[in-house]
Amino acid sequence: MANWHSLRKRIHLLCFLIFLALPFLNVMRFDIPRQRFYCFGYELWINEFGIIFFALMFLMFVVLVASVIVGRIYCGYLCPQMIFSEAAATLRLRLRRWLKPREGLATAAFYAILALASVILAFIFIAYFVEPRDLARRLAGFDIHTAAGISGASVTLLTFLDFAFVRLRFCTTVCPYGYLQGMLSDGNTLLVQYHDTHKDCIECRKCVRDCPMDIDIRKSPFQIECVHCGECIDACNTILAKLKKPGLIRYSWGLEGKPHFPFDAKRAVLLAVLVFYAAGLFTALSMRHAVLVRVSADRSTLYRAGADGRIYNHFRYTVANRSRKPSAVVFSMQQLPGATLLLPVNPVAVKPGETVQGEFDIAAAPARHGDFVTHFNILANTIPDPVRETFPMTFISPTEAP
Ligand code: SF4
Ligand code: SF4
Repeated sequence: MANWHSLRKRIHLLCFLIFLALPFLNVMRFDIPRQRFYCFGYELWINEFGIIFFALMFLMFVVLVASVIVGRIYCGYLCPQMIFSEAAATLRLRLRRWLKPREGLATAAFYAILALASVILAFIFIAYFVEPRDLARRLAGFDIHTAAGISGASVTLLTFLDFAFVRLRFCTTVCPYGYLQGMLSDGNTLLVQYHDTHKDCIECRKCVRDCPMDIDIRKSPFQIECVHCGECIDACNTILAKLKKPGLIRYSWGLEGKPHFPFDAKRAVLLAVLVFYAAGLFTALSMRHAVLVRVSADRSTLYRAGADGRIYNHFRYTVANRSRKPSAVVFSMQQLPGATLLLPVNPVAVKPGETVQGEFDIAAAPARHGDFVTHFNILANTIPDPVRETFPMTFISPTEAP
């Protein structure tokens, strides 16, 4: 007989370790000061809108598809709010038990441990938005004047208040996921259901007493408070095992006595949209260049006639190195014979994480035979990773030779 409680506690521990490790290993962080998004080895820049858009939409549809198929398993097994709320409730209970006659001491110890835990949890949470070493420096300097300092202090206070007083009430009042789930789940979603075809229920109400959300699952499998934790299943199994009977509550897809459609139109549409965003994300990532090069013509002045009799057009470039190793970009030209690219330093070197902007001229002889606009290409070759980009440009000459 499955013991959902111990499985859930093991998963909670694993999730806590993952929650702890992700920002420190740069696996996942929306780094606000640096304007970077770290995601599974990719260092995305905030202006890489396409990738971030597809990544966020993909994650959102993963959540939606999971909600339709496995219901609120996320809430009961993976949600940090659930994990820390239950841990706080268990701590409170144990302290009361250990320090039984001294209720005041148990309460003081509980709030002291919670305050310390809130500082640590807030630190980890903010590390998803600010580099942890940078954050530690600010914390050590009691920085509560900057935005990061104020956020740190506020998140610590909110974490403390949440786990001291709100805990699982959050799930039924503030959290929108429960309401969303109410709209998404149906008779084909995984539900915690009560089946008592042989009238075996002995009305012991242990399923109700053990429910962290204080509900009676026997009334309906569609109660918005139910987080699919399975505690009521364990409770009923334990009680009825003493009478050598199977439990009356279980996880199941499909409502009792009704046909089960594991793959209907709603699921097909959601899966199709999920596949669409997955393909978009994959395409955007595969098209991504670690070194971003942008070249544009400066048309504030169409051209300049030089004292040497040649015509000059002005251009601007931006080179952003989004990789972790030094790179350089070599600029050259194509299809503009006899022209000179006047770039003071070529190749343009860029350090990891650096953005370099600059300007350059291209000089060419005045156009003949009425070719006042010449189409040509500027080439940008990135080294050491060999990427070649072509920028179609125009070179403008005066309509009459100067
Ligand atoms: S009814 Fe059962 S599965 Fe739902 S929250 Fe309560 S104990 Fe968990
Ligand atoms: S634990 Fe089982 S037997 Fe007891 S009240 Fe709940 S459903 Fe009935």
